[in-house]
Formats: sequence, structure tokens, C-alpha cells
Amino acid sequence: MVRVTVLGSGDAYGSGGRLHSAYLVESPGATFLLDCGPTVLQGMKRAGRDPGVVDFVLVSHLHGDHFGGLPFLFMEYHYEKPRTRPFAVYGPADTERRAHAAYAALYEKTAAEPVRYPIRWGTLAAGQTHAIGAVQVTAFAVPHVSDLLSLGFRIDVAGKSILYSGDSAWTEEFVVRSRGVDLFLCECSMYETHLDIHVSYPEIAARAVALGCRRLVLSHLGSEPLRHLGELSLECARDGMTLDL
Ligand SMILES: [Zn+2]
Ligand SMILES: [Zn+2]
Repeated sequence: MVRVTVLGSGDAYGSGGRLHSAYLVESPGATFLLDCGPTVLQGMKRAGRDPGVVDFVLVSHLHGDHFGGLPFLFMEYHYEKPRTRPFAVYGPADTERRAHAAYAALYEKTAAEPVRYPIRWGTLAAGQTHAIGAVQVTAFAVPHVSDLLSLGFRIDVAGKSILYSGDSAWTEEFVVRSRGVDLFLCECSMYETHLDIHVSYPEIAARAVALGCRRLVLSHLGSEPLRHLGELSLECARDGMTLDL
């Protein structure tokens, strides 16, 4: 079985008091995080999980609500539960430099100390499928902001498939890519306001019947969709929710 636990279903602004983007994927072959927002340790510990179980992290893009938890994971592995086994972070080009810069800004002295466990940094190229142990990760560019590359992921693990939008404007590519996947985790930051960097609820609601996924769950929920939560027909994530595939 593959279990996805929504650690954080909120947007960058912590709308509704929800935690930042992070999803824990537990499978027979690997345990990993899809994005790693600043509140990742709170999310893991609320869910009763030891952050040490994470084998690797997939970062969709270099916005703080998606990778700002890496310094806190490093602190956990340095002091709270010293780590010895390997760890890896995969993301767009520049992920290593940006994560180091964030760590150094937040914990200057510790960030300069030697890391006591092997850490591997890998770049996920858009349009390519990467084999990470037993996990196949297909990264693709999604339309978000113009100043950086944002990735969506199709993940194949233990016979199950997950499509993850990352942060993205609505794109018809999601219709094509969602065909046959077990779970489509799609961002939904807006409701009334149309932006060309995020999905608004009416956009995905209009396309929902065209999606061929077995289960669609909206997340990265902003204040607008949260104000309408009681009237939304599409399934919305909440912090701590588990999705068994
Ligand atoms: Zn975001
Ligand atoms: Zn973003």
C-alpha cells in the first residue's frame, strides 16, 4: 500500500491556520516528502511520525512555503535526533545553493558545521523521468511565476501513481497527465480571483469531469476557497489527512 499523509494543506500565508505545503509518502520501497514547507516538523510530529523516517525530499520549486522546511529538518537531524543514514534532496537547479543559504541565514553557526550523514543533492530536469531507488519521478514544468522554474511531478511507486501540481496556474496538461493516476493532488489557491500563477476553484471545477484520475484532492488552499469550504463539491485536503492508494 502507498499512503499519502497531508502534512500541510495551506498556502504561503498560512490561510485558515493551515500548515505549509508538505506531503509524506510512505510506500514499501521508500518514504519521502513531496515539498517541505517551513512547518514540516510540526506536520510530521502532529501525524506521529519521526522526521528521521524520510529517505528523500522532492522540491517542486524554490518558494519558501515549499522548501523552507529543509533548514528545520537539518536541525532535527543535527541535534534532536542525530542522523547517520543517507539523506537526499531533489529539486530544480539551484536547490542546493538556496537551501544552504536559507540554513545559513537561520542557523549560521550550525549550518557551517560538518554534516554527520551522507547527503545527496540531485537536480530534477523538466521533461525527464528520474529513478530514485524504487520510485519513478517524472518532472514537468508548470506555469507558475516567470522568475523561476516550477515543477509538477508524476510519481510511480509500488504500482501506484500520484500527480502533483506543485504551484501552477491551471493548464490543460493536467487533464492529459491525470489520466489513469490513482491520486491527483492539485493546488487551489484562489476562488473569485483569477491569477495566472495559481489555480482558482471554478477553473478546476469546470474541468473536473474531464480528469481521468481515480481521486482528485485540492490542497494549497488559500483564504478564498477556504471561505467557500462548506459549499465545494470537490474533495479538499486538510492537515493530517491520510490518503491510502
Ligand atoms: Zn506555494
Ligand atoms: Zn510558489
